[in-house]
Amino acid sequence: MTEFQLIAQLQNRFAAHAHSMPFAPVLGIGDDAAVLAVPEGKHLVVTTDTLVSGVHFFAADPADAIAAKALAVNLSDLAAMGAEPAWFFLTISLPEIDTQWCDEFASGLLEMATSGRIQLAGGDTTQGPLSITITAMGLVGQGKALRRDGAKPGELIVVSGQPGLAALALRQEMAGKPVLPEARQALKHPQPRLALGQELVGKASACIDISDGLAADLGHILKASACGAEIMLGQLPEAAAFGELDAETRRSLQLGGGDDYELCFTLPQQFRHELSAIGQAAGVALQVIGETTAGSGLKLWQADGQEYVLQRGGYEHFAGKPA
Ligand code: ADP
Ligand code: MG
Repeated sequence: MTEFQLIAQLQNRFAAHAHSMPFAPVLGIGDDAAVLAVPEGKHLVVTTDTLVSGVHFFAADPADAIAAKALAVNLSDLAAMGAEPAWFFLTISLPEIDTQWCDEFASGLLEMATSGRIQLAGGDTTQGPLSITITAMGLVGQGKALRRDGAKPGELIVVSGQPGLAALALRQEMAGKPVLPEARQALKHPQPRLALGQELVGKASACIDISDGLAADLGHILKASACGAEIMLGQLPEAAAFGELDAETRRSLQLGGGDDYELCFTLPQQFRHELSAIGQAAGVALQVIGETTAGSGLKLWQADGQEYVLQRGGYEHFAGKPA
């Protein structure tokens, strides 16, 4: 298979589902650049994320799962902005073009694109170490994007799903232990919370997706919004898979585990009574874990009323190993 055959294959497979996508490109794959029409009254939301072999996934992982995750993490950023997915671009660097690998990759990509209702509009293909960069674009009503800087003191802090599951799976995998299915799903097949993000438009005052760990990512909202927060550890979402862990490990996964792609958002008190309806409409469990305050930084409270001091923040590239 050559570069051009690979592009043609992607083009053909995506063309077949173009008609069911909400925003067909004016001009998609096959020219020097794509042409896209932003509907009147909408803002364009653009995000990009790279997945590198050995850093974000194992080279031996199934190609369809790698593709799905590469797109999912971008869709998650659109979800966190409250945007509706529209188009994406795929930049892929491959050591060689293995027909079966590319076929599986295209299948995984197409499956995630179909569920996220997003159309492939172009990309770039080069030879080199395996790495995948996706740039995704979405649409949101003008001025309606869910930013990080809108939280005010006294609002509810809410998380979706069970943050910590993906980190649990990684821990089990690295230790050569059997990975519990619930945790494996969170790590290998994260589901971007697109419906939730769109439900939160006009309601949530700030929103972020949890890629680096709940404490670190909530910290970004607090910093941008110049607020503090009080979190009740006893209210953090529990998962059956956490059952056998000691309390300390569980907390470090719940607060510091990255790669879950759940949403964390702040909600003004006036919407408190709508929370269960929002979760139901979005098909995901929502949990209030605390409130924003007029202070700064994150305060964590144990069930016994003692303050809890967090040892370690989220994952940072180039941060190096602790001394
Ligand atoms: P150019 O040399 O002008 O950059 P390319 O050969 O890179 O042209 O790309 C030709 C067309 O194929 C463009 O429409 C581009 O967006 C598309 N394309 C290239 N690689 C990919 C890819 N990995 N996925 C989707 N579309 C791609
Ligand atoms: Mg090119």
